[in-house]
Amino acid sequence: KFPVLMSPIKIGSMELKNRFVIPPMGTKFGNLDSTVSQQLIDYWKLRAQGGYGLLILEVAAIDPLGKAIPGQLGLWDDKFIPGLKQLVDEVHKHGDVKMAVQLHHAGRQTMSAVIGAQPVAPSPIPCPVDKEMPRELTTEEVYDLIEKFGDAAKRAKEIGFDAVEVHGAHGYLVAQFMSAYSNKRSDEFGGDFNSRMKFPVEIIKNIRRKVGNGLPILFRISGDEDMPEARTITESRMAARVLESVGVNAIHVSRCVYGSVPGAIAPAAVPAGFNVYAAEEIKKSVSIPVIAVGRINDPLLAEDILETGKADLVALGRESLTDPELPNKVAAGQLEEIAPCISCMQACVGYLFDPTKPYISCLVNPFTGREGELKVEKTDNPKKVIVIGGGPGGLEAAWIAAKRGHKVTLYEKEKKLGGQYRIGAIPPTKQEIIKALKYYETMGKKYGVEYKMETEATEETIASENADVVILATGGVPLVPDIKGIENPKFVKAIDLLDGKKEVGQNVLVVGGGMVGSETADYLGEHFHNVTIIEMLPEIAMDEQDDVKYYLLERLKKWGVKAITNATVKEFLDDGVVYEKDGKDEKITGFDSIVLAMGAKAYNPLEEKIKGKVPEIYVIGDAVKARKALEAIEEAARIAVKI
Ligand code: SF4
Repeated sequence: KFPVLMSPIKIGSMELKNRFVIPPMGTKFGNLDSTVSQQLIDYWKLRAQGGYGLLILEVAAIDPLGKAIPGQLGLWDDKFIPGLKQLVDEVHKHGDVKMAVQLHHAGRQTMSAVIGAQPVAPSPIPCPVDKEMPRELTTEEVYDLIEKFGDAAKRAKEIGFDAVEVHGAHGYLVAQFMSAYSNKRSDEFGGDFNSRMKFPVEIIKNIRRKVGNGLPILFRISGDEDMPEARTITESRMAARVLESVGVNAIHVSRCVYGSVPGAIAPAAVPAGFNVYAAEEIKKSVSIPVIAVGRINDPLLAEDILETGKADLVALGRESLTDPELPNKVAAGQLEEIAPCISCMQACVGYLFDPTKPYISCLVNPFTGREGELKVEKTDNPKKVIVIGGGPGGLEAAWIAAKRGHKVTLYEKEKKLGGQYRIGAIPPTKQEIIKALKYYETMGKKYGVEYKMETEATEETIASENADVVILATGGVPLVPDIKGIENPKFVKAIDLLDGKKEVGQNVLVVGGGMVGSETADYLGEHFHNVTIIEMLPEIAMDEQDDVKYYLLERLKKWGVKAITNATVKEFLDDGVVYEKDGKDEKITGFDSIVLAMGAKAYNPLEEKIKGKVPEIYVIGDAVKARKALEAIEEAARIAVKI
């Protein structure tokens, strides 16, 4: 039972059916001209149906110079009204759900390549990440921007949004004015606390003048900015009090500015609910509702936050990407069917800031952002489907196919499901991966997948099954390159070590410093081994997502792990290696054990043997080419919806 989570609450005059909020998140789903796309509508429609009480649409720029990324939604002109109206009307069709839009200006946290002009800011101080020198806004321009926030809110009201949220967090323009570290002005908008608060205060007043008292105004603030000289929770409490006094109806408490650690979006190395304390602090100073956000990925945690009075609402960001129906599942008591966000950072934040990726998605739920494209529809033609391999790709393919009405059998040669991904959950901070594997298994069981464990599928077993479809998800195996001396029986493969199949001595050399090698070193460090990594690239963990890597490197430092980089191993010795670095041969010896983490290669022993004997054969994931689980799961979903 979740009595507080499921109870209604009012923000100003807006009545919400429950305490579940989807916070504004950049998606890149909009069109490049900053208008609404069908993809964005499909995405939000599913979340409106999923039972969330309040949806907050991502950053909408109040001025074209305020865009943080290309294609960011716009609200600076009436031309954006029809598209946004279509979106809001669609959302309002699905139960009693409310939608707000976030009013935004990036200030210095953008680039001239994005906005076609020099970024603007309260003061000429570059953003620590984008590093471009901004132009200081004139006092007149500041007043002009205040009007633009009000004009955008007026459009939002006309469109039919139920509320607006002013983005005063994450170091964007409003936050830049509020913070002493980014505001060095000497006009009426800078100097002491009250002068730095003048910009948000005048924005709120302007919005009120233009929209009247009816439309609730939320304000998003970073409780702690986590930067030298930047705002701390004490001043944020003062700011919240001021904001309430001028008519703000709720405070949404996030954290950070660009460049701070941890950022607003934290990896699994940071405890769940890491930012709740800030909401709790702000709540002490205001009587309006307070929204907590930050790695809240479990309804039990969410209920606890509300029950103990730390906040009045909870915003589930990434968790809503992973499970658009979470509130409905909570209401129905189907907790084990909730798709868990594992805080991997890969397809959400990772894709958002990767210019080669067109839009965000989710590793656990590859349907995110593809709601209109990938549909799980009941099949008219139920087939017998055999999935070979119970790694994440195989598990995803199995349950989706079964949900569609196919009869699915999954063969797994090990005692446990999960493949290499299960082993990947063993190093420190990676345990959330298990939640995803359990979720896939639960969903498979629900829809009738038959799991044949400890059964290696052969050509004969496949023939005896008379299957219509075989999905080969046999994964990858460790790569053992042809280097002199490598075939030493004393050497241990990283996955065998992590899986508890092999042991190592006290002094360990890990050969290969990619994700697997570095995480294996982390595991060994946690077990008090002396570890050295040798890697041919200039850095270790280069294939890790940046935020994940930050915490990993911190831990390796703590364990005293040594790294030799830019080093190509030429020969393996019994207790070390000969390697080339800077054109010279060097030798390192004296190790009790050598662990091999030199990558993986595809393992696909069955395709050739069954070709022509089964009507449909698909190969997915690492069985095609060794990659990350992210790609395997997406491929699996794409196959499972079309068979
Ligand atoms: Fe969570 Fe990873 Fe999905 Fe992002 S990609 S929402 S961090 S599971």
